Amino acid sequence: MNIVSTVPYTAPADSEDQSEFTSHYVLPGDRTRGILLVCDHARSTLPEVYGNLGLPASEFERHIAYDIGVEAVVNGLAARLGVPAVLSCFSRLLIDPNRGMDDPTLIMQLSDGAVVPGNRDIDDNERNLRLSRYYQPYHRAIDAEIDAAIADDVAPVLISVHSFTPAWKGVARPWHAGLLWEDDRRCSDLFIQALSADPNLVVGDNVPYAGGLVGDCMNTHAVKRGLPHTLLEIRQDLISDAEGVSQWIDRLADVIDHMVVNDQIKSLAYNRASGDK
Ligand SMILES: [Zn+2]
Repeated sequence: MNIVSTVPYTAPADSEDQSEFTSHYVLPGDRTRGILLVCDHARSTLPEVYGNLGLPASEFERHIAYDIGVEAVVNGLAARLGVPAVLSCFSRLLIDPNRGMDDPTLIMQLSDGAVVPGNRDIDDNERNLRLSRYYQPYHRAIDAEIDAAIADDVAPVLISVHSFTPAWKGVARPWHAGLLWEDDRRCSDLFIQALSADPNLVVGDNVPYAGGLVGDCMNTHAVKRGLPHTLLEIRQDLISDAEGVSQWIDRLADVIDHMVVNDQIKSLAYNRASGDK
C-alpha cells in the first residue's frame, strides 16, 4: 500500500525549544538479580515541534511508529521481577534507537509503504539534533545501568523486548513469540525451552528475523560488551489489550523468575576476565 501524504510539513527550526520532551525513562530495580530490560520502541510519541512528521495521525497507531503493547509488558515485568528497565519515549519514526548511527534506516524515509515527509531531505544539523536530544540520551541511560551493575560485580543479561506484526506482506506469521540472538544463543535457548513447554505456544528461534545487526541496541550494549542477551519479540495482536498484556506479564515473569531462582541467569554471565564464552 502506498500512502501519499497530503499533510503539509515544515521542518522545525533548530532553535525551537524541545526540552519538554523526555527521551526515555528508567525504572529502578534490584541490579543484583542480573537482568536489565530494555524497550527501544515503547512509544509512538514525538516532541510537539515535529507534529506528525507530515504523516496522517493514524500512522502513529501502527507498528511503523512503535511496538504495540511492549511498554505495558516491560513495565509489568520490571515491577513483578523487581529489575531495572530503560524505555525510550520517542517514536522510531523520529530516529530508530535500534539502529546504528551509520545505518541508512536510522531515520526512515519510507516505512511499510508510508512516505515520511518530515524525514525527507533532512540535513546533518537535524540528524545530529535528533541523535543528541533523543537517541544518545537513551543509549547513555542503558550504558549507565550496565556500568552500575558491573560496578556491583554483576554482568547483567540484557533482555530487549519488542513486538512484531501478525502478518508481513500478506503472509501470516505463526509464532506467538520469537527469540533473537547474535553470537550467544544461551539466553534465547532458556526462553525457547521454557516457553515451548506450553504446547499452545509456537516459539521462534531467531525468527521472524535473525538477530545480529551491527550497531543495533543488542549489538551495541550486549555483544560488544560481552554480556549475555536475548531479544524477545512478541506478536503484537497478543499484547494489544490489557488482558493479553497481563497474560504475557504473568507468563514471562514466571519464566524469568525461574531462571533467576535456579541461578540460570547467573550462569550465563561470561567469564569476562578469561574471555571464556
Ligand atoms: Zn521493535
